[in-house]
Amino acid sequence: MRIGNGYDVHRLVKGRKLILGGVTIPFKKGLLGHSDADVLLHAVCDALLGAAGLGDIGLLFPDSNIKYKGISSMKLLRETCSMVADKGFAVVNLDTVILAEAPKIFPYKEEMIKNIAKATGIEPENINIKATTTEGLGFIGRGEGIGAMCVVLIE
Ligand code: MG
Repeated sequence: MRIGNGYDVHRLVKGRKLILGGVTIPFKKGLLGHSDADVLLHAVCDALLGAAGLGDIGLLFPDSNIKYKGISSMKLLRETCSMVADKGFAVVNLDTVILAEAPKIFPYKEEMIKNIAKATGIEPENINIKATTTEGLGFIGRGEGIGAMCVVLIE
């Protein structure tokens, strides 16, 4: 059994779609990035890669590669999962936290879980998504960005 953790932050800007856990959320701003900037899925990918000893998302899907421009992070997660499986590992469970002052994540949680379950091939009950604000403190509290953390167990 092995454990991995992932952490990511993206900047919130006007004129971008907000995509979290593969779900497009109506909001006045979206996350800036080379891919679709799905900060939650990036944290999940990094946790999986860390657990399997495969490096990190920046190494495997560099933002200098035009191939990944605007790419759906669901695709990156599927690729990550197949690399983890190729090393002989199966995902046991994963636990995540989204750090955002706004919008409210709760209405979209089930759909995010469904998306991650599909990509990882594990049951939705083995996936947990939590969300918190930072009580108005720091860059997340000022609404300048959204962060995400993930811990995953593989065997
Ligand atoms: Mg990222």
